Amino acid sequence: MIHFNKPPLTGNEERYVLEAMKSSKISGDGAFTKRCHKWFEERLGCKKALLTTSCTHALEMAALLLDIKEGDEVIMPSYTFVSTANAFVLRGATIVFVDVRPDTLNIDETKIEDAVTTKTKVIVPVHYAGVACEMDTIMEIASRHNLFVVEDAAQGMMSSYKGKALGTIGHFGAFSFHETKNYTSAGEGGLLIINDEKFVQRAEIIREKGTNRSLFFRGMVDKYSWVDVGSSYLPSDISAAYLWGNLECADEINENRLNSWKSYYENLSFLQDEGFIELPIVPDGCIQNAHMFYFKVKDLEERTALLDAFKKEEIGAVFHYVPLHSAPAGIKYGRFNGVDEFTTKESERLVRLPMYFGLSSDERDTVCGVIKSFYGK
Ligand SMILES: *Cc1c(COP(=O)(O)O)cnc(C)c1O
Repeated sequence: MIHFNKPPLTGNEERYVLEAMKSSKISGDGAFTKRCHKWFEERLGCKKALLTTSCTHALEMAALLLDIKEGDEVIMPSYTFVSTANAFVLRGATIVFVDVRPDTLNIDETKIEDAVTTKTKVIVPVHYAGVACEMDTIMEIASRHNLFVVEDAAQGMMSSYKGKALGTIGHFGAFSFHETKNYTSAGEGGLLIINDEKFVQRAEIIREKGTNRSLFFRGMVDKYSWVDVGSSYLPSDISAAYLWGNLECADEINENRLNSWKSYYENLSFLQDEGFIELPIVPDGCIQNAHMFYFKVKDLEERTALLDAFKKEEIGAVFHYVPLHSAPAGIKYGRFNGVDEFTTKESERLVRLPMYFGLSSDERDTVCGVIKSFYGK
């Protein structure tokens, strides 16, 4: 049996989690949370990093910070996870879906401008598989129309676009530390990156139930009170302790995943050369993090047959994302602008292979063996 995913466990997590448990502060913003914040701020080169309880919550914080209201429109791809849309729908926004590019499955930047109306407030590029969207074009469109950019970089930790870390290019970046992502904080967790100084103070307030508690702890106000809307978006320090164990080995985890990715790619390229499958494309200027290894087969029927073959061998290969615009809530809360030329078609062809820190070469060979025999090789 080969699992689709195993949460990264490097060996130090247990010690750090116990250390956090035995400290006198296990609620939010303890010693491990502070260590993680500093690591992200230095490593990604951003103004402010705030751990959150999930990427979903980091996106919700961004929507609150941007004062998204009923009637506002938010542009995003339809080929993404539900949280990208929900964060804005919760504030009353209408989602305007735009088609993806067939090469990267990222939002097609050439089709964004056509979706902009007087109601548009935000563009949300999703860096699918940790491969960057065409950010120069997206930022240029946003600045011309006075729009905000929230990067859904849930899958993009350690990836970059023209030398800049993903999540640090738009006004906000949201990351996930769910157990299926490259780095995890005890199963669930996230991070909000704030790149515009003017949002920092309010972000700390919204994250702390609408109170100015962080300012109080820093001695900047003499009592703390309810000053704004907010919720509880900060994780326990035990979560941050687990994450710290992962972050200390961030480069090792990244290299290990990239090796698996390259090995899958090399092993399967002859099938691409012979016209059976299409392998993923990483555009120039993008450095990826091997968040996933996917490839595309002929059509839905072929994919169903291939996934059955994997199932028989007890291999965790999967597909994902039924396009949001065709889901019941997507129909209710959104609309597709332009023609769905690639979103549905490409989504039906996609297969994801097992990928995690520590995947062995024997396991990769077994996985590739199933694909080769499926195509009669
Ligand atoms: C995983 C993921 C999310 C949600 O992350 P959580 O931490 O589980 O809330 C959002 N967007 C994308 C693109 C994701 O892959």
